Amino acid sequence: MTLNDKKYDYLVVGAGPYGSIFAYEAAKRGKRSLIIEKRPHIGGNMYTHTEHGITVHDFGAHIFHTDNKEVWDYIRQFADFNGYQNQVVANYKGTLYNLPFNMNTFYEMWGTKTPAEAKAKIDAQKADAMAAMGGRAPRNLEEQAISLIGTEIYEKLIKGYTEKQWGRQATELPAFIIKRLPVRFIYDNNYFNHRYQGIPVGGYTQIFENMIMHNDLIDVQVNADFFAHKDEYLAEFPKIVYTGMIDQFFDYKFGELEYRSLRFEHEVVASDNYQGNAVINYTDAETPYTRVMEWKHFDGLADDDVTIITREYPQTWDRTKEAYYPVNDEKNMQIYKSYAKEAREHQDKILFGGRLGQYRYFDMDQVINAALNDVRQEFGVSADFNFAHDTEK
Ligand code: UDP
Repeated sequence: MTLNDKKYDYLVVGAGPYGSIFAYEAAKRGKRSLIIEKRPHIGGNMYTHTEHGITVHDFGAHIFHTDNKEVWDYIRQFADFNGYQNQVVANYKGTLYNLPFNMNTFYEMWGTKTPAEAKAKIDAQKADAMAAMGGRAPRNLEEQAISLIGTEIYEKLIKGYTEKQWGRQATELPAFIIKRLPVRFIYDNNYFNHRYQGIPVGGYTQIFENMIMHNDLIDVQVNADFFAHKDEYLAEFPKIVYTGMIDQFFDYKFGELEYRSLRFEHEVVASDNYQGNAVINYTDAETPYTRVMEWKHFDGLADDDVTIITREYPQTWDRTKEAYYPVNDEKNMQIYKSYAKEAREHQDKILFGGRLGQYRYFDMDQVINAALNDVRQEFGVSADFNFAHDTEK
């Protein structure tokens, strides 16, 4: 018996968003896929489960946000989304501040009431750092943060959080990471700048079930390790869509890429409302976790006498741990370039996708966008995603 007796067109390695969308779209075009997933469940890090009627995100808070209407319409084919808007509170040594950095934060920090007052405060604080930079662009996360928001917010809300999150000095991290967070001179605590935002009612897992579990042209094997049979898979499948770590695929031939890992501690608490908000960040250096999520607040459920919280601890990655974040600094990007070049040479046979396959700090919407673009490429530019619902609702 061989691994491809059923004459699959594609082997998809990994049942996260990139691989699942690829298999789903391939099936719409009559192509047969086998998806192998090394974990015991589908959905990658978007996987959620329900406990005490509460949807728990097993791998950290996943809040869907995008400006891309096609992506927003696409994902809503598979689930209804609620109107959740992320509003994060930061706890710095017992004092609370609104995030992202906005007029509420500035008021809490300095008592400033107008944008002009807040700007004056930030400008005075960043003057020294800007002078030291002599007009050049920020070279690292610390320089970027101080030039955006001044020294005090950097010290209280960014430095400690960032250094424990990434396990290295803010001066050794790329500037782009902090550009993810908006800075606003209006009173607006919405964590994201995007137009479309929400969480699927009932969780994310249904999205993957609807995409890949009930399709005659898609078979899914969980607890299946690609590397246990890599050579056979490569020999027997006409094309492979690989969403694991690209360095592992090439047997680390250009060196090992670095990742950051996470550990989650879930706790059921006898309380109707534990912390009063979906996410509270702990921005000091000493608290070992970066944030605490209280899942019922993502669904707006607050009247039960049980709640579930999750503490998120950053941890050093090694080959025995899950890779959550690529560390996109210069050293790693240099190594990645060699892998990307090698990948291009094999592109007729292997597609690399997703956060780990492309070594990019992708958000969910960016992965979906990349998957749809690759589907267009694979099946012709006219690929039409046939949205099954009224996009105006
Ligand atoms: N960050 C911070 N303080 C916070 C929240 C975020 O300094 O309270 C910085 C930190 O460097 C982090 C980056 O902003 O890595 C991006 O945060 P985001 O919440 O977007 O990250 P994710 O949810 O992907 O972990």
